[in-house]
Amino acid sequence: MSQSENPNVTQQPISLWDMSAPVTPKALPLEGNVTTDVAIIGGGFTGASTALHLAEMGVQCLILEAEKIGFGGSGRNCGMVNPGIWLPPQEVRSVLGEQAANRFLDVMGKAPDTVFSLIDRFKIDCEATRNGTIHAAHSPSGFKELTARAAEWQRRGRNVQLLDAQQTEAKIGTSNFYGGLLDPKAGTVNPMGYARGLATAAIKAGAIIHSETRALKLTPVDGKWLVETNRGTVTANKVIIGGNAYNDNLWPGLKQTFTSIHFYQVATKPLGRIADKILPEAQSVWDTGLVMQSIRKDQFGRLIIGSMGKLAGKNDRGSKYWAQKRIDKIFPFLGKVEFESTWHGKIAMTPDHLPRIHHLAPGLYTAVGYNGRGITTGTVCGQAMAQLLTGTPEEDIMLPITGLKKDHAAFVREPLYEACFKAWRYYKSI
Ligand SMILES: Cc1cc2nc3c(=O)[nH]c(=O)nc-3n(C[C@H](O)[C@H](O)[C@H](O)COP(=O)(O)OP(=O)(O)OC[C@H]3O[C@@H](n4cnc5c(N)ncnc54)[C@H](O)[C@@H]3O)c2cc1C
Repeated sequence: MSQSENPNVTQQPISLWDMSAPVTPKALPLEGNVTTDVAIIGGGFTGASTALHLAEMGVQCLILEAEKIGFGGSGRNCGMVNPGIWLPPQEVRSVLGEQAANRFLDVMGKAPDTVFSLIDRFKIDCEATRNGTIHAAHSPSGFKELTARAAEWQRRGRNVQLLDAQQTEAKIGTSNFYGGLLDPKAGTVNPMGYARGLATAAIKAGAIIHSETRALKLTPVDGKWLVETNRGTVTANKVIIGGNAYNDNLWPGLKQTFTSIHFYQVATKPLGRIADKILPEAQSVWDTGLVMQSIRKDQFGRLIIGSMGKLAGKNDRGSKYWAQKRIDKIFPFLGKVEFESTWHGKIAMTPDHLPRIHHLAPGLYTAVGYNGRGITTGTVCGQAMAQLLTGTPEEDIMLPITGLKKDHAAFVREPLYEACFKAWRYYKSI
C-alpha cells in the first residue's frame, strides 16, 4: 500500500517545510520479519543521526518511523541551529556538577559546527545560512539575562556578541527589542530539508529506513529485542528510541518524564522587496519573553513568526489574527499581509531544562527532552548513542547516562501551560 492510500498515516503536509524541502528518497514500510544489529525507533534528527553514525562505523541498522521522516518536531521547527541549551550555561554547572557540565557545554558549544559540517559533507540541500542567530531582549530584564549569558559563553571561548538596541534594530529591522545576543557560529536551516538530508546520508551509508511502520511492543527475548510493529517484526541486538515529544506508550513511563508543550508558526506568502529590511543578513530570532516568540524568513522571502501554544481558531484564524497584530507592531511597514501556511508541533520540556540520555534496559537507550533546541541536540545525541552502542564508555559520553525519572507534575503542567499561552495570545491580540 503506498502512503497516499494508507488511511493510518497523515496525508496532508505537516508544515511549510514539508512542502519546500527537497523530497527524500522513498522509504518503504517494513514487510515481514527481519533481523538487524540496531533497530532505531523514530525518524527525526535523533534517529537519523544515530543511523548515520552507526552506518558509517559499519553497523547494520534500520529506522522504524511511524509516519514519514521528519514527521515529529524535526519537520516542524523554526530551523534555528544554535548551541542547544535552554538553561543559561552558568546554571548548567549547578545541575550537572563542574566536570559533567564542562563536557556537555563543550559538545554543545561546538554542536552548530557539527551540524554545518554534516550539511557540507553530505551536500544537504536545506536552505542553510550561517550568519548567526539572535536572542533578542524583549525587556530591560531580558537584556540583563543576555548580558550574563554572553559573559559565560565568552568565558568559555565562544565569540558571541552582545548587541545594543540600535545594533539589534539594524540586524532585525525593528526597534522593538532592547538589545540582543548574536551567536555568529549559529545559523538557520529548513529543518525538514536537514532531516531528509541526514536520512538520505544514512541510507547511502548503508542504513535502512521503513516509514509508515509503528513500533508497538518491545520485548527482550534471549538477549535480543523483539520489536513488534503494525507491519511485521524486527529482531535486533540493540534498540534506540528516538520518539522524543512524539513518544507514544511504547516504553512504560518514558512519556511521563517530560512536559509536552506546543509551539505554532505562521508563514506569510513570499513578500518580495518590501521585506528586504527584515533580517537583511538572514539570521533567525527568538526572544527572552516567558512566552517565547520567534521570527525568521525563508529563502523565498516568506516571513515566519511563531510562539508557544497550539494553533487557534477555525482554519487557524486566531493564530493568523495574532500574527497580523504582531507584524503591525514589529514590522508596521508591511501593512496587511497574506498568510500561506500555519502549523504547530510538540516540544519535550524537562524539569531542569536539560536533555537526557537514558539507559532503559540492557542494549536499550533513548535521548529525550531537548527543550526546543533539537537540531544540534538531536544530531549530537544521535552521535553519542551511536558511540555508546559501539563501545565508548558511558563516562566519556556528552551527558551523564541516567535511568528514567518521572515528572509527576507534567500532566498538570501541560493543560495549565496551554491555558496560559491561550490567555497570553488573546491579551496580545486585543
Ligand atoms: C514548532 C517547533 C519549533 C522548534 N524550533 C526549534 C528550533 O528553531 N531549533 C531547534 O534546534 N529545535 C527546535 N525545536 C525542537 C526540535 O524540533 C526537536 O527537539 C527535534 O526535532 C527532536 O528531534 P527528534 O528526532 O528527537 O524527535 P522528532 O523529530 O519529534 O521525531 C520523533 C519521531 O518518532 C516517531 N515515533 C514516535 N513513536 C514511534 C513509534 N512507536 N514507532 C515508530 N516511530 C515513532 C514520530 O513519528 C516522529 O517522527 C522546535 C520544535 C517545534 C515543535
